[in-house]
Amino acid sequence: MNFLLQEGIPGIFLWPILIGVIREGMIIIKQGGDKIISGASMNNMPNILWLEEIRKEDITSVGGKGASLGEMASLGLPVPKAFIVTAQAFRRFLVETGLDQKIYKSLERLDVENNEALEKAAENVKGLVLKAKVPAVTRDEIKKAYRKISPDDLVVAVRSSATAEDLPDASFAGQQETYLNIKGEAALLTAVQKCWASLYGARAIYYRAKQGFDDRTVNIAVVVQQLVNSEKAGVMFTSHPITGEPSTIIEGSWGLGEAVVSGSVSPDKYVFDQRTEKVVDRLVSTKKIEIIADGGHGTKSVEVDVQRQDAQVLSDAEVAKLAMYGKIAENHYGVPQDVEWGIVGETIYILQSRPITTIGPRKGTQGTSAGVSAAKEEHKILIQGQGASPGVATGKVMIIRDVKDSGSVKEGDILVTRMTNPDMVPAMKKVAAIVTDEGGMTCHAAIVSRELGTPAVVGTKKATSVLKNGQLVTVDGEKGLVYEGAFEKAVQKQQVAAQQVAGAGVPTVTATSVKVNVSIPEAAARAAATGADGVGLLRIEHLILGLNKTPGWFITNHREEEFVKELHDGIRIVLDAFPGKPVWVRTLDAPTDEFRNMMGGENEPHEHNPMLGWRGIRRDLQSPDQFRLQVEAFKQLWKEGYDNLGVMFPMVSHPDQFVRAKEMMRGWGVDVENTTLGIMIEIPSSALLVKDFIASGIRFASFGTNDLIQYTLAIDRNNENVADMYQPKHPAVLELIHNAIQTCREYGVECSICGQAGSDPKMVEWLVEHGISSVSANIDAIAKIREAVARTELRIILEAARNRNAE
Ligand code: PEP
Ligand code: MG
Repeated sequence: MNFLLQEGIPGIFLWPILIGVIREGMIIIKQGGDKIISGASMNNMPNILWLEEIRKEDITSVGGKGASLGEMASLGLPVPKAFIVTAQAFRRFLVETGLDQKIYKSLERLDVENNEALEKAAENVKGLVLKAKVPAVTRDEIKKAYRKISPDDLVVAVRSSATAEDLPDASFAGQQETYLNIKGEAALLTAVQKCWASLYGARAIYYRAKQGFDDRTVNIAVVVQQLVNSEKAGVMFTSHPITGEPSTIIEGSWGLGEAVVSGSVSPDKYVFDQRTEKVVDRLVSTKKIEIIADGGHGTKSVEVDVQRQDAQVLSDAEVAKLAMYGKIAENHYGVPQDVEWGIVGETIYILQSRPITTIGPRKGTQGTSAGVSAAKEEHKILIQGQGASPGVATGKVMIIRDVKDSGSVKEGDILVTRMTNPDMVPAMKKVAAIVTDEGGMTCHAAIVSRELGTPAVVGTKKATSVLKNGQLVTVDGEKGLVYEGAFEKAVQKQQVAAQQVAGAGVPTVTATSVKVNVSIPEAAARAAATGADGVGLLRIEHLILGLNKTPGWFITNHREEEFVKELHDGIRIVLDAFPGKPVWVRTLDAPTDEFRNMMGGENEPHEHNPMLGWRGIRRDLQSPDQFRLQVEAFKQLWKEGYDNLGVMFPMVSHPDQFVRAKEMMRGWGVDVENTTLGIMIEIPSSALLVKDFIASGIRFASFGTNDLIQYTLAIDRNNENVADMYQPKHPAVLELIHNAIQTCREYGVECSICGQAGSDPKMVEWLVEHGISSVSANIDAIAKIREAVARTELRIILEAARNRNAE
């Protein structure tokens, strides 16, 4: 980036509207480690250290938080002023008051599993620390430092930061108290003492005992820092957290950053492209509440005044400046950073920076992803991939290396496998989350998980080797992360699914129909509850493959009726959920490798590249029996009065295929002229020949972008190694889509999309601008897609009206 570092730096210490912050950091030093603070070394250490004096090597004196602030200040980042009451000050306090021995004694034989005893010991020790008199020298030095930082008794506050948050070898996050808005020397001294006492909270004692830390080697530092009484604040990822792309992602809202970090508000979101130095994405949310300082008593949550609720929080210039600071931190630390920031007037403050690998879901997110915010309770990231199905779930890892073992998957497990197959669907229905080594956003695992409302992370490359059977993990299906351990807020997938539908249930009327994709009948009711205008894609292979038998098996074993019945019953469930609304049923389209493990799979050909092989309409045209049985199921449904059933042919590359399919159907007694028959545009040839398809009688065309992208760009959609080259908005893809839409418009033929790109609001905005007639999205995306459609339509109308007025 071309920014000058000095740009945002002057005046860091000059801004008037500052109140202070006290932060505390714990120093935990493992017994036997080389950093145990001995009495001798303590004597040489000051009680107070200023930010400017601190380097990261001082971590044992200032805690991880203090060390990190010191380092940031040394980079010239606009860090609010601070001083640290060092770990040595704490140790000196313990020694001089004689508390050390008392404390160790009372903790020595404590059975931490005995809750009552633990609570009692914690209360006792905390009481000792709080009641003891702080040595006069230490008191004086703290007071002096405070005067220096704030001659006018400015309010200070606390922001918790444990050493473990920033140290790689241990995590003690969430075990310290936070004190905000402390004013005056007396209150400050009390707050420092309370911080010290919090080292002996029941939870902290328990945790250390379990982790094998000896309390004699535990110290705590307290960071006292000016509080930026932010008018707006938030968090930033200095690079894309999953792909590492040079995109800075910033979330911001009004008031203190707590509102964003705690997840109590939906913040604005900005994406800054570091290559073009432009804000490339901007999502302005309705921010109903803000957290502000509450006099001398902490903070309070208040309603945001109406004018600011929908107002954009950050200007492009502020986004760019924040991104620059983020980049400085990232370059310095060598890894992408998770940064907390605040703004007062026109002044930006960087409050905290830590590696992205320590992020955790935002508190209170109740199973939805945490955005870019970090929770106080942090967890180690074990593995990352692509977030393929949103939601957060905790469970025990169950690694399935062979599909034959999928029967051992239990309700609530985390299914970890190389890649899911249709015959794994029964197991997929049971689990709390799914993690795969392979695949991208349109792989089998991704499609089915989204539909089941099950969080999923795909394309991790090595989940099956990194994760261990029985290991407790938490999966964040939006961010694409798998964390060690459990999060309190992870929720049942049913709740996730319910949340996805909630909010989608109040349909906005849009001129562009917003339909939904369905693959499994169980999802039909949830899909319908979104208020979608119909089903733009029903993938029927899932109705059959879940039975673990190939279509060929049914035919060879003369079980054709059974096959037809399965199809008929499954499709009918979806039709019943969408009375009077169009339901486009797609004929079978499964690559041969997906059949391999099923009964009859042994007769499937071995293909070098199944994606380019015997699938879709090409197979049906060469396997008339298989095609006929599908048509038989459709015919029964039409006979039963389901005339909202339309048929869509996949993988067509030439109009001849459509004509032949139509003629075969006619031959089996279908009134093809009065039936809604259409095609998927999944191959560049069909996009290029759409006019000829129209001439051959298609009633509609729907972009299957999952395949269209892979066939246009020669990027295997299931290959995680090239996933970052799989670009839905590649100009060649957009050109094919644009031209096909224009031709469809010219001839009055419905043109839709049912690939994954139809679940991306930005893409949908583009499609609506280019004249698409309908879009079909995943269940979880319907609400945002409907909103994107509505906004775009309104914008088009508004612009047209303005243009008219200007004429
Ligand atoms: C597509 O290709 O975009 C599509 C919807 O079909 P599938 O993902 O089933 O190949
Ligand atoms: Mg396809």
